[in-house]
Amino acid sequence: MRMGNIPLILKALDFAAHKHRDQRRKNVEASPYINHPIELARVLSNEGGFISSELLCAALLHDTVEDTQTTEEELREEFGEGITRIVMEVSDDKTKTKAERKRLQVVHASTISHHAKLVKLADKICNLRDMAHSPPTNWSLERRREYFDWSKQVVDQMRGTHPQWEALFDAAYAERP
Ligand code: NDP
Ligand code: ZN
Repeated sequence: MRMGNIPLILKALDFAAHKHRDQRRKNVEASPYINHPIELARVLSNEGGFISSELLCAALLHDTVEDTQTTEEELREEFGEGITRIVMEVSDDKTKTKAERKRLQVVHASTISHHAKLVKLADKICNLRDMAHSPPTNWSLERRREYFDWSKQVVDQMRGTHPQWEALFDAAYAERP
């Protein structure tokens, strides 16, 4: 088995853990935020059979720009152009309203690179699993259902990217409350 660039993967894990250190997920246990990027990397490698270091690093870093003070320049300096490009492709533009960002994810999903689609697919798989089994506190049934349906709209724009992972997404969607 090819092991990939383990030092770089650990550097990305350390970087993301530091950046997300004060954040929690929205579930009732308020899990440490870093659990989510780790879960993405685990899904990609264990369930998706993917061992590209670049992709695993991008998965670990995927929410740093969107949800912390991390800048694109900082990522480029630490991790290079390839990883940075993937992270930026899966990051929403925070200057837009929430509703607009949701709409743009659907519009842009088909236009992003293959690797960015793989990270986005893993993100949607993990978030639907969380939404089914440890959802954000105080979200109504209607709101959770809307989240499932919006996620499916995004993934439907990327069909054909990776049929095996799309099946994992469909299995997660089947648990729509
Ligand atoms: P978000 O869409 O930002 O919240 C979902 C995101 O939270 C996920 O994509 C995930 O993002 C992250 N997350 C953290 N913890 C969990 C968890 N346990 N399970 C799943 N995801 C988790 O919700 P907002 O509150 O920002 O609202 C967004 C939209 O919802 C707006 O457009 C708004 O109009 C609408 N809305 C609808 C309401 C309704 O009742 N229907 C009420 C209020 C708002 P990541 O992977 O990036 O961590
Ligand atoms: Zn995420």
